[in-house]
Amino acid sequence: MDFTPPKIKINIAIVGGGICGLALAAGLCKKPHLDVHVYEGVAEHKDVGAGLALHMNAIKAMSLIGPEVRQAYFDKAMSMGESEDQEMVTEVILAQGPHTGELVAELGRAKGRKSVSRADLLAGLLDLIPKDCISFSKKLVGIREDDSDKKVHLEFHDGSSATADCLLAADGIHSTARSYLLGSTHPATEPKNHDKWQVYRTLVTTEEAKKHINEKWTRTVPILLGSRGHVNCIPLSKGTRLSAGVAVRGAGLLLVDGKPQPLDPALYADYSEDARRIVNMVARDTSASWSVGDHDHAPYYTKGRVAIMGDAAHASLPFAGNGAAQALEDAAVLDHLFGRVKDASKIEAALRAYDEVRRPRSQAVGDLARKFGRVYAYAEEDKLHEDPDRMKAFFAEAAAFTNNADLKRQNDDAMELLERAIRG
Ligand code: FAD
Repeated sequence: MDFTPPKIKINIAIVGGGICGLALAAGLCKKPHLDVHVYEGVAEHKDVGAGLALHMNAIKAMSLIGPEVRQAYFDKAMSMGESEDQEMVTEVILAQGPHTGELVAELGRAKGRKSVSRADLLAGLLDLIPKDCISFSKKLVGIREDDSDKKVHLEFHDGSSATADCLLAADGIHSTARSYLLGSTHPATEPKNHDKWQVYRTLVTTEEAKKHINEKWTRTVPILLGSRGHVNCIPLSKGTRLSAGVAVRGAGLLLVDGKPQPLDPALYADYSEDARRIVNMVARDTSASWSVGDHDHAPYYTKGRVAIMGDAAHASLPFAGNGAAQALEDAAVLDHLFGRVKDASKIEAALRAYDEVRRPRSQAVGDLARKFGRVYAYAEEDKLHEDPDRMKAFFAEAAAFTNNADLKRQNDDAMELLERAIRG
């Protein structure tokens, strides 16, 4: 190991102050050989009511970056249920067809399961970063790498510019850096919505929800499956609010003037009564709805001294609940590698090690999220929904792949690749 203090700090620009960018900045800011600055496009993060439930691998990744990062999550997260002792589980249940009512998976059973609002998590991460290491209202519009000075030159929407030894871009699903790396016309640059998903969502108080749906679904997390897509509920804010959704596969077929048609409960007549009641409740107010998309696989996450991470590298459909977790795994690996990058000549090798370790796993999780959507909508080629036992085996294997990954080993594998590259 090289313990010589560097004469000149390495200058790292992180573009995008979302979950990935801020978690990485929280780790890199602690390393005395690095000079880190985050450039965030918006003036401030708004609370749009988005809730995240972070899986075990997300929590492991935060712990690897630093206990304070994990603590920022726990300080801001709230129990989904009424108390820390209440056991919560995501129950995946067939809601249409001959096996209606059959429980095919219990995902993430745990006491005190938590969800966090995206805005709260970002506020907790921001508290870990020195104020002079982040600039808001700095929307990246241009990137130029210069071989003569080995620097990355950044241009922002407001006409200002910055120079760094390295750009780590976490600028989300519509990433400017992804477009720069792959080229704006590359087929994998823009996000796609291959299965034409439309997610209708409502946010209500739990008291209100109890008037409309089976009271049980205000206390636990159901995903009710059928051929038009799935119906789900998530208790939020210590059980005082409920987010309920209907994810429609093929909704693009229902476009009117380019916009999704209102959710039509009549199309769910052959779903179980529990599912129909949730659909009816969601149809009353779909103002919290969104359209979704994901990325086809990027052939690489880095070129030269620029790398993409988080949703910029591998935006996925939300159905496996692991997008933020994958973003945090990227941050954990990059944080570990940059602990070893004490002179700028090692940057490119570190970014290649990141790419080699993280691209296969993050893209596999993206594929899994697509598969979850199809399985939830009875649309998978191997017709899992016709055999609940095979479906159970599928979910058990998928949960093990995302949650039980050995992330310390992932970090070590990346470091080994870097060490090998340094040794030549
Ligand atoms: P983002 O969070 O999108 O952050 C990108 C940041 O970059 C933003 O702050 C943006 O303002 C900024 N930016 C964008 N362009 C520029 C630019 N040109 N210049 C400067 N800054 C820019 N994941 C889970 O693990 N669990 C869940 O339960 C879960 N639920 C989800 C539910 C929904 C409905 C959705 C849509 C996603 C869900 N996800 C979940 C996925 C998760 O939200 C994302 O994977 C995660 O936020 C990715 O983090 P990120 O930092 O890469 O990108």
